[in-house]
Formats: sequence, C-alpha cells, structure tokens
Amino acid sequence: MMNLADAAKLTHADWQEKAANLKKTAETRLFIGGKFVDAVEGGTFDNICPVDGSIINTCAAGTEADINKAVEIARISFKSGEWSRMAPRDRMNVMYTWAQLIGENGAELSLMDTIDMGKPISDMVGIDMPMCIDTVQYFAECIDKITGTVTATEYDVISAVLREPIGVVGCISPWNYPLLMALWKIAPSLAAGNSTILKPAEQSPLSCYRAAELFVEAGGPAGALQVINGLGEQAGQALARHMDVSKISFTGSTEVGKLMHVYSGESNMKKVSLECGGKGPQVFCEDLEGELMDRAVETAINGIFFNMGEVCSAGSRLIVHSKIYDTFVAKFIEKGKHAYVCGDPLDPEVNLGPLVDHEAQKRVLDMLETARNEGGQVEFGGTAPDGDLDKGAYIVPTMITGVKSNDTIAQHEAFAPVVAVIRVDSDDEAIEVANNSIYGLQGSVWTDNYRKAMRFVREIECGTFLVNSFEEGDMTQPFGGYKQSGNAKDKCFESLLSYTNAKAAWFRLN
Ligand code: NAD
Repeated sequence: MMNLADAAKLTHADWQEKAANLKKTAETRLFIGGKFVDAVEGGTFDNICPVDGSIINTCAAGTEADINKAVEIARISFKSGEWSRMAPRDRMNVMYTWAQLIGENGAELSLMDTIDMGKPISDMVGIDMPMCIDTVQYFAECIDKITGTVTATEYDVISAVLREPIGVVGCISPWNYPLLMALWKIAPSLAAGNSTILKPAEQSPLSCYRAAELFVEAGGPAGALQVINGLGEQAGQALARHMDVSKISFTGSTEVGKLMHVYSGESNMKKVSLECGGKGPQVFCEDLEGELMDRAVETAINGIFFNMGEVCSAGSRLIVHSKIYDTFVAKFIEKGKHAYVCGDPLDPEVNLGPLVDHEAQKRVLDMLETARNEGGQVEFGGTAPDGDLDKGAYIVPTMITGVKSNDTIAQHEAFAPVVAVIRVDSDDEAIEVANNSIYGLQGSVWTDNYRKAMRFVREIECGTFLVNSFEEGDMTQPFGGYKQSGNAKDKCFESLLSYTNAKAAWFRLN
C-alpha cells in the first residue's frame, strides 16, 4: 500500500520493479458478489501492453452468463435495501472510507492504468488519482443533499415528490481515463443507492477491479458494486440489453453510444445516458497578441498533446484568424514541437506514452495519410517514432496546417496527439467552422474583447465553453455534450439526480 505523496517520489527503476510484480499479482477475474471468479464459460483474452506489444496478463472474458449472474445478485441486494435504503449518513461514511482507501492505494491504482493503457505515470499520480478521490468524495458529500419537494396543492392534499434510486444500473466505460471515467459513473450511481454493475473497457480493467474490491473493504455490500470485464459486443451488449437493468450509463464512442438506444429500445426501455466523442474547436481571434497570445499557444499545445490526445474534450481543431495565423502557427511550432516527447510511461520524466494499442496507431497513421492527400501540410510529426520505441503504439506529436473545415481530419476524432489548424477570415466564419461538426463537447475562444467572447459563448454549440482557457472545471460543473457528443452530464449534482427516479406521492387527507 502506498499513497500518492510517496508515489510521487518513486524513480523510473522503482516503477519498473513495481510493474513487473503487479503484472504477476493483479487480479484479472470477474468481481461478482464480492469475490473474484472465472467467467462461467471459462473464456479469457490477453491484455496487451501498448509500450511493446507484450502480454501483461490474461483476463477473464465475461459473457451474457456472467452478466445474468451479476444482475441477479444486484437485484437481490437492491430489494434487500442493504444499500438502497441505508441511512444517508451511513452510505456517506462508506463512500468517504472508500475515497480514503483509493488514496492510500494510489500508487498501485496509478500503476495499473499506466501498464494497461500507456498513460504517463506522473499524470496518473499528479492528475488522474487526485481527481478520482475528488469524484468519490464529492458524490459522498452530495448524498444527504438529495431532497424531494412538497408541491403547491389544495388545502386537503399533500403532494410530495420523492427521489428514489432507480434499481440495477449498468455502467460501461472507456479506456482513456480507465478509473476516472468509471468513477464518474459508478460513484453517483452508488451515492444514489443503486446496485451498480460496471463493464470496464477490455483494454484497461485492472484498476476498476481493485477499486471495487476497495469498495467492499470500505463496508459497501458485495451486491452493490460488481465489475465484469469482457468484450463490448458480448458483456457490454448483454448488460445494456438486460431486462432487469433499469439504466445504462455509457461513456465511449458515438458509434457505440448509438447502439445503447437500440439495445434499450429492443429490451425494456431502460434509461440511457451517453457521454461520447468530441472534436473540440478552439478559436483564436484577430486581436490576440502579447502575453495572451503566448498563453493561448501554450494552452493549445497542452489541450491536444496531453494524455496522448486521447481525451474526448481535446482541442483538436484550432480555428485561427488570418490576421494572426502566421504568428500563431510559428509560435505553436516553436513551442509545441518538443513540448511532449514519446517515452516509457513508467519514467516519471516522460509526458507522452503510446496510444492505447497498435490498432489505434494504424488507424491514426491512415488518417494522417488521408490528411496529406486532402491537402494538409504536416508542420511536424506525422509518423510513429523509430528506434527504441518502434515496438510501441506511439505517434509523434503532430501539427497539420492548411486544413479545410470538411476535411476528414477536421471531421473525425483522431484520438491521438494530432492537431488540425484551419484558417478563417472573420468571427462569422469561425463560428460556422466551429459548429460544422456532429460533435459538441468542449470549445473555447481566445480574445481580449469580452463582448465578442460572449457572442462565441452563445453561438458555439457545445456542453462546455471556455474563454481564454481550455482545461478547467471542477466537480460542481456539468460535463457532457451537445449534439452527438451525448445526452447526459457527468460530475455535478445534476448527474447524481440522473441516477434517481422522481416519484410523485399524493396524500388525500380528507
Ligand atoms: P468504445 O465505444 O469503443 O468503447 C467504450 C466501451 O463500450 C468499452 O467498454 C467497450 O467494451 C464497450 N463496447 C464496445 N462495443 C460495444 C457494444 N456493441 N455493446 C456494448 N458495449 C460495447 O470507446 P473507447 O475506444 O473505449 O473510448 C474512446 C471514445 O470514448 C472516444 O470516442 C472518446 O471521445 C469517448 N469518450 C467520451 C467521454 C465523454 O465524457 N464524453 C470521455 C471519455 C471518452
């Protein structure tokens, strides 16, 4: 057990040694009814390391049979009231203890995500894990702030609106922030009193298993949180189609998100919450200069290269006014070309790991080829690195200029450290280009003119919009998309309420 403060002092060699041990000891079976068990049908799949293509370990592959087993346990647990009817204070205490245990095991959980999907260990220790702890604490704090209402009625009636947990909730999460994205779903679901089943991304199950084990250690009932890894089309689909699952909360691609509506419609009309893809526009206006210009460039670099660009809200489209275009591009090249350097994510000095797998690397290399064919100029990057890293799924940070709004690289998520730069001649054109997307997750504008900024806030269609900033926000703010970026909000109190049902109770008194 090692907390984050001690983890921050570890060296590359320390992490390598810990990783070698963890690969042998990490639990890879399904977490059902508070125990780790093999899949009913006995299936397994290899968990591949994106750094060198080696096999990390072999994971149990859950299928419909395992989902059925877990849903039955979850349903019994929900009906028993052991979690769903627990006094709010007691439920809060379990969740606070859980947050504390996550912190105390911060080094191990960080390492799990790093070896699974290649995220730099320093980002795990310094960024992801503190956010994971915040998430659980925030939703714990919210538990006794859920209130119903008494509505206006005639004298002899009391009409109360009660907030109740929904029942069995299925959560399906992606691999780009393995534990954090899972917690953005399971923490509010549990806080609301639901029996929750998580299907993590098959590329990154380890930290979710450990976190579920810690929930039980914190005093949570075994039937309240279960984790079943497996392929999306099998375990994920079975969960989303299950007749006894009352809500499915999904984070992942828009393509798979749309299937959730199909599964719901073809089964029991379960509620569907979706957090999907993005193609974040950042607009840089003609008045940008001096310190604000420098900060804009620096923020834009981090906004696309951080976390290997595998961020749903990444600023992957830079929309730059022609008056400042040459200066902006020159500064971005000067500062951005060497700001992020590929390396072993277990080295605390490294800020850019590989993509999640070799399939993603091939998809991105193909996209870059298409970008060139469509007239884009690669200002830097555009390839996989050679030399020592050639076995890994790496992509060198890449800047493409001369991109047109309808080009493939401006329309499709690369989910990689690849930025597309589009030149515009007016604010009207910037707004049109920014909105020319099926997505609407996060955007920004950079200008000293706040009247202009307000126009962008009003007119750009996205769930989060920032002025002279890009990556900010805390647990109180809703995070979620417009358009095909999704239909729900994570974080925030509103998210917690989405894991409850409103029941109208009518008391006639005379
Ligand atoms: P994905 O859609 O391929 O997979 C997401 C999850 O869905 C995984 O657990 C997967 O196993 C499961 N799945 C796949 N096919 C399924 C099916 N047929 N039925 C049921 N489940 C299925 O996405 P990914 O590659 O893991 O993640 C990257 C995507 O996630 C990107 O598009 C990114 O923008 C998006 N994302 C969005 C947010 C947000 O908050 N809006 C946050 C993180 C990631």
